Amino acid sequence: MPDKNTRSPEHEKTKKILKIAGGIVLAAGIVFAAIGFISLFSSFGSGSPPGLFWCAILGLPMCAVGGGLLSMGFRREINTYVKNESVPVINEAAGELRPAVGDVVSAAREAQNAEETAVCPACGERNEKGSKFCKGCGKPLRSVCPACGKDIPSDSAFCNHCGAKLR
Ligand SMILES: [Zn+2]
Ligand SMILES: [Zn+2]
Repeated sequence: MPDKNTRSPEHEKTKKILKIAGGIVLAAGIVFAAIGFISLFSSFGSGSPPGLFWCAILGLPMCAVGGGLLSMGFRREINTYVKNESVPVINEAAGELRPAVGDVVSAAREAQNAEETAVCPACGERNEKGSKFCKGCGKPLRSVCPACGKDIPSDSAFCNHCGAKLR
């Protein structure tokens, strides 16, 4: 699959960039938010205005953006994994091959059956090749040609020895 080979490294790169960028933005956002909230809480104790609270206002959206980038990076990984999963491909190939193999096998079995059996013209029972009487109904499977006297299958329309018309 040339498609997979050309696309995979690109996916890998995008995924890595998303994860790295997401991680950096998320980490920076957490640090900014922490600075902002520490400033806010310490201002409660000291009574002075929270000089660094803007850090929290900046840091919280950064956390959200970083988290979003990270999840995109990982989602891409999941998609790529599912898309490049080899098992469905093998299953698909096997699914296409199976009926063909089955046809060949059943055709071979059918041919073998036809060769090894003598179907009774009266009841349709499959008898072993060379049987003289049907195991299903007891009627003769072979008869004697009235023209040449040779042993022939009882359902023959013509004698396979002399060609005499039998029906
Ligand atoms: Zn029979
Ligand atoms: Zn004959």
